[in-house]
Amino acid sequence: MQNPYESALTQLVRANNVSPVDPILLNRLKSPEREIHISIPIKMDSGEEKIFHGYRVQYNSLRGPYKGGIRYHIDTNIDEVKALAFWMTIKCAIANIPMGGGKGGITVDPRLLSKTELESLSRGWVKRLADCIGPKKDVPAPDVNTTPEIMSWMADEYAKITGDKTNATFTGKPIESGGSEGRTAATGLGGFFAWDALRENLSLPTVCTIAIQGFGNVGSFAAETFEKMGHKILALADSKSAIYNENGISIKEALDWKKENGSLSGMPATVTISESALLELAVDVLIPAALENQITVENALRIQAKCILELANGPTTPEADDILLSKGITVIPDVLANAGGVTVSTYEWEQNLKNEHWSEIDVNKKMEENQKLQSKTIYEKSTTLHTDMRRAGFLLALERLQESMK
Ligand code: NAD
Repeated sequence: MQNPYESALTQLVRANNVSPVDPILLNRLKSPEREIHISIPIKMDSGEEKIFHGYRVQYNSLRGPYKGGIRYHIDTNIDEVKALAFWMTIKCAIANIPMGGGKGGITVDPRLLSKTELESLSRGWVKRLADCIGPKKDVPAPDVNTTPEIMSWMADEYAKITGDKTNATFTGKPIESGGSEGRTAATGLGGFFAWDALRENLSLPTVCTIAIQGFGNVGSFAAETFEKMGHKILALADSKSAIYNENGISIKEALDWKKENGSLSGMPATVTISESALLELAVDVLIPAALENQITVENALRIQAKCILELANGPTTPEADDILLSKGITVIPDVLANAGGVTVSTYEWEQNLKNEHWSEIDVNKKMEENQKLQSKTIYEKSTTLHTDMRRAGFLLALERLQESMK
């Protein structure tokens, strides 16, 4: 498995090769400002104590407080968290929001914990890190396997420890605990907006065929949005199974089936395909919305989609990027495509600090305008510089980071 942090730094160097930036900035971005390792002791339901390992990487604060989600996954390790924190730095600059980049995680399979254990673990992460986070310092949010409910436990623990009354340290909270309208759907919806802004440039048909890998928060909202806008979802995958229907899968039925059965596996009116077959389908749009390292030198040559909308972080390796570019496949990169989530998280933070509550229509409109503007700017930059959208996106971010450094 390719080291995601090495991939992330390779992407940085490759963008800089197209149009070099100030070497001082480049050097600063090659390491995090702070990397924190914690151990969290939890009393399990059996009465036994178990230690879990957690992390917070505060990558860069040139543009504002560190901002980034917390991932619970059995494969989560420090290099993954560093990569994700680095990408957050680039992403927040692309989204042009006043935030730096950070990320956190715990190495755990949350499916093996009871709800009480999960709550203790989440509160334990905050107990260890309360000194290092805060509305003006570091503002965490959800990521893989962390939910609005987990954010509400964390926000509550932080308020108990510090007495903070702003409720602005964690975003992605449930609405009744100070969350923003539109936050849960924001990453999937924002991906649609970034893609929709380029429809004409990419010469895509009116009704596009879509394959989506990952059917959690991001993948399911993306699926719902694309379906609502008249496109056809031919294939879907979660961690257990990939399913296909050449006439299109009903997303409501898929959500109901997954809720009842715990996975997409065996959904009526679909056939099971392999995960690799899903990635290689001849669709208009391929949407990786699960984890890193899915499109690599191993399969890039076989990818047939006309464009790739990266809603997961780091799904494509740098070597695969070159192959896709040579095949004429446009990749709308993660640092732009999934930036709707952190954008609405920042709106949540702003609402909490000002003690306001914005309507869903206002939130979505503001995010849509921003996603479309940044998407068009990056596309134009990529054509002017004769490069891919990832390098162009990084260069836009580097220009903005350089402004802040001055
Ligand atoms: P989630 O935990 O809600 O869902 C993850 C989904 O991926 C699940 O359906 C899981 O079954 C599936 N999955 C895991 N391994 C898989 C595999 N090998 N093949 C197919 N499916 C697999 O997480 P999420 O919040 O939807 O995050 C998904 C991706 O989007 C991650 O890369 C995350 O970093 C990124 N992201 C999330 C947000 C956010 O707001 N949640 C924002 C930006 C980026």
